[in-house]
Amino acid sequence: MTGARGALLSGSSQLLLLLPERGAGSGSRSGFRSGRERLNCRLMTNQELVQRAQAVLFQNYRTQPVALVRGEGTWVWDADGKKYLDFIGGIATVSVGHANARVREALFEQARLLWHASNLYVTEPQVRLAEKLTKATATLKRAFFCNSGTEANEAMIKLARHHHVVNGQPERIEILCFNNSFHGRTLGSLAATGQPKYQQGFGPLPQGFRFVDYGDATQLERAVGPQTCAVLLEPLQGEAGVVPPPQGYLAKVRELCTKHGAIMLLDEVQTGMGRTGKLFAHQHTGVEPDAMSLAKGIAGGMPLGVMLAREDLAKVFTPGTHASTFGGNPLATAAASAVMDLLQGGLLEHVQRAGERLAGRLSSLKTPRAAGERGMGLLRALLLSEDLAPKVVAQARELGLLVNAIGERVIRLAPPLTVSESEIDRAAELLETAVSRA
Ligand code: PLP
Repeated sequence: MTGARGALLSGSSQLLLLLPERGAGSGSRSGFRSGRERLNCRLMTNQELVQRAQAVLFQNYRTQPVALVRGEGTWVWDADGKKYLDFIGGIATVSVGHANARVREALFEQARLLWHASNLYVTEPQVRLAEKLTKATATLKRAFFCNSGTEANEAMIKLARHHHVVNGQPERIEILCFNNSFHGRTLGSLAATGQPKYQQGFGPLPQGFRFVDYGDATQLERAVGPQTCAVLLEPLQGEAGVVPPPQGYLAKVRELCTKHGAIMLLDEVQTGMGRTGKLFAHQHTGVEPDAMSLAKGIAGGMPLGVMLAREDLAKVFTPGTHASTFGGNPLATAAASAVMDLLQGGLLEHVQRAGERLAGRLSSLKTPRAAGERGMGLLRALLLSEDLAPKVVAQARELGLLVNAIGERVIRLAPPLTVSESEIDRAAELLETAVSRA
């Protein structure tokens, strides 16, 4: 660590960055300052960190002018020491709260044992997690681990295409997808994403993706046929503005896939891992997909993705067909196992109750600019009657509440699943004020 910047937190939650010692590495054995010297080290402010970020990072995100340095449960602190209620949770990813003690312990324990081995070898946390995930679904009995949602979707697309090749129907390449969907930014997932604004300027994209309107059973029925390789959909469209499908739609997709021999691929990257009140959103419907992608909340904020698939599909991925160096990393899978234990130890029931409370609070905001709400469990959207969403986000942030805008009229809320009732009530009050002031 000689010459490195170590971070530690003061009682006031401000970020103390230990600057490299002058001459570190020559005179000092550890490279860290003594306790006394630490007291003199410079406090980094939001402004300084934002400026440094702007100087060296790609400017591809609409990053808020706030540097977060610490989290605990539903709360986060910025570098100036300001405290926020976090109702976006790393975009539906901090599933069991910031710095969750059980996940932290699992990480520490695994960090003492083994950080990385690659898939040249078996690692215990990966096997343990695969056992838990496959036990939790009725039909998906094999797991392939990767590191993100887009990778899990790439894996599903490849698996579906390869299945038909192996089964003597290489001409079945068409993947049916949905307008306004979102599946990720790598080229395959991007080709499957029904939002042209994300695709423009990155062509040529992989071929064979066809789009229909989400929720329109007639369009889907017309589009599925002997050329269809797979139907790929979200059980609720997250990035489209938290849009659930009509009742019975997933069952219709299942019926058409089964009838035509197409593979039903569910993207549960945003909706999975308890977010909607069931472990997986499709479990609200009784429909079983042929394969499913998960990421985001699966490891509470550690990077991890997974594709789960039916045994007969999984077997077409023979050695060498698909791979990931970091996939199933011991730290990430150990964290995810702890998350699974929490979800199955009573948290799902809490999400159902908390989701109802949040829905009730959002639908009764006292401002004419609030035009209702929608969503499932703790993935919800406040709808606005005017084009104010980015302004509402800024006002909420000023008031100490973090939320996210989708377009101009949707505010997305996805707090940690551990959020308390009083935190929901407080967030609703702050949001009401933010909407009024925007
Ligand atoms: N699929 C869905 C439904 C998503 O919401 C997202 C991200 O928002 C992705 C895939 C991509 O996930 P990642 O950003 O981890 O690649």
